[in-house]
Amino acid sequence: MTRPPALKEKIWTGTPVSTGVAHAVVHVLKDHFDEPDADSIAPGMVEGEMARLHAALAVTSQEIEELQRVMAGEQGSAESEIFETHLLILLDSTILKQTEKTVREKLVCVDWAYYKLMCKHMDALRGLSDAYLRERFLDIKDVTQRVMRHLRGELMQHPMFDEPVIVVAHDLTPSDTVQLDRTKVLGFAVETGSAVSHAAIIARSLALPAVVKLHNICDELHSGDTVLLDGEGGQLILNPTAETLARYRLREEQAERREDVFQEERHKPATTVCGRMICVGANAEFIEEVGIVQDSGAEEVGLFRTEFLHLENPDATEDELTEAYSRVVKALAPKRVVFRTLDLGGDKVDERLAVEPEPNPFLGWRGIRLSLGRLDLFKRQLRALLRAAAHGRVGIMFPMVSGVQEVVDAKAVLSNCADELAAEGIDVPEEVEVGAMIEIPSAALSADMIAAEVDFLSLGTNDLIQYTIAVDRLNDRVAGLYQPTHPAVLRLIGMSVKAAHGAGIRIGMCGEMASDLRLTPLMIGLGLNELSVATTQIARVKHAVRRLSVLECTELARTAQTCTSPTEILTLSRAVAGRCYPELFE
Ligand code: PEP
Ligand code: MG
Repeated sequence: MTRPPALKEKIWTGTPVSTGVAHAVVHVLKDHFDEPDADSIAPGMVEGEMARLHAALAVTSQEIEELQRVMAGEQGSAESEIFETHLLILLDSTILKQTEKTVREKLVCVDWAYYKLMCKHMDALRGLSDAYLRERFLDIKDVTQRVMRHLRGELMQHPMFDEPVIVVAHDLTPSDTVQLDRTKVLGFAVETGSAVSHAAIIARSLALPAVVKLHNICDELHSGDTVLLDGEGGQLILNPTAETLARYRLREEQAERREDVFQEERHKPATTVCGRMICVGANAEFIEEVGIVQDSGAEEVGLFRTEFLHLENPDATEDELTEAYSRVVKALAPKRVVFRTLDLGGDKVDERLAVEPEPNPFLGWRGIRLSLGRLDLFKRQLRALLRAAAHGRVGIMFPMVSGVQEVVDAKAVLSNCADELAAEGIDVPEEVEVGAMIEIPSAALSADMIAAEVDFLSLGTNDLIQYTIAVDRLNDRVAGLYQPTHPAVLRLIGMSVKAAHGAGIRIGMCGEMASDLRLTPLMIGLGLNELSVATTQIARVKHAVRRLSVLECTELARTAQTCTSPTEILTLSRAVAGRCYPELFE
């Protein structure tokens, strides 16, 4: 018997954003809302096209009924009623008739005819002032997405894979990520994005390899293809040969041996050679990360991005939120957990909240602005956080603060929630630490005013860099301008540190800049005492801290603050890092 010819190996190179190697089949997530091509059809094909639509409707109907059954079991009948509406839309006879009419008269494929008709209905609802009717837009969108997927012969909306897969996508938004069955995801390969896009951040939190900027791979790969994803070299290798796999196995073994050395001391404190303690904490997004955080050596959770839990379950009640937050607090007690209140908006969109598309979402209704505009949501979250605080040490941190007034307003809501809970006889701790993120230049410039109102500040450099340099953190085209060591960014960090120290409060950094080992000397030199990083980086950051002297770092920061070029600053810090802990760059 002759063997089938070996499939040809093919390599793409992108930007590595989360280390590790995965070898598995891929699942390609297509953008299901792209307008389909208006392919012409012959008159004799009309019946066939309609049969395709009927088949897609039948499978969609089964899918919705199944979801309805699951939801009725888990959440009770009220929540499952939403699917009644979906079924009514799906099986609406007028929609069917109109689609058929378009296919017959225009002789176009049914995908286009159905899509266009549903878009017309969505557009009509989108502009209505009645909130209830406006929300029906989302029902139609949901149904349309499902039908389009089945028309294209693809799988379910929220992929639940049978086997572990590497997810390949054009763009992986936070909402896409929360909908994946993360227990079956081994890595991300994305066409767009950057090291500070949320897909990359999540990959690092979950310790999964990820590569971004892999242009056009969605067109070249098909679900089921076998690939090797190299999160260190930034390569995606289709049909890796036996030699390639052997080479990677060897490399992995060597990397594991090196890593073991850093990991051994991960639970010990990070103290510089001259005795200054630096608190190295973890960033987290999901409850399931608690175990990883405990094992990582993190001294606290310096940033828990609560909006991901919200996107997973936007209708969670106060009790459910209390239960979720308490699980994290109890599991990590006595360590502090800093929960950041919802930072929805920007790329983290709950479509039900922002039905009107915003022209500039990153400059729009985001973070604390949205929370202060939706007191129902904000209070539900704050009450749940206060209740969870009864089980351990909790910090509550406000995101996207642009000035002190927002902090004052947010604190007033918090204190109102505490009073309400006390009046209801619910146990609330006397004091909960309150903090503000410094991620907008106006916040850094007024950090002294903000510092007077809070217990701690945390520098969110992912946004601080984008807003200072006016460079979209997700835009590939301007990625070269996204420079953490830009002198203006350094000045804003320096001002914030000075303001915090002046007010006698703590200041840390939870942006991705905090995990860049080349910059650890600069961060310590600038006076930061807390670094909150991806769990995979904790052991390494602690290792780096233990090899630095504050005096040398301060001297470095002083020189850096006189430099005009981002590269020069980076080179200076990298030189100290390379001398003090060369083993971390091998
Ligand atoms: C930041 O902006 O640095 C930050 C930590 O928040 P996010 O990345 O979620 O915007
Ligand atoms: Mg931010």
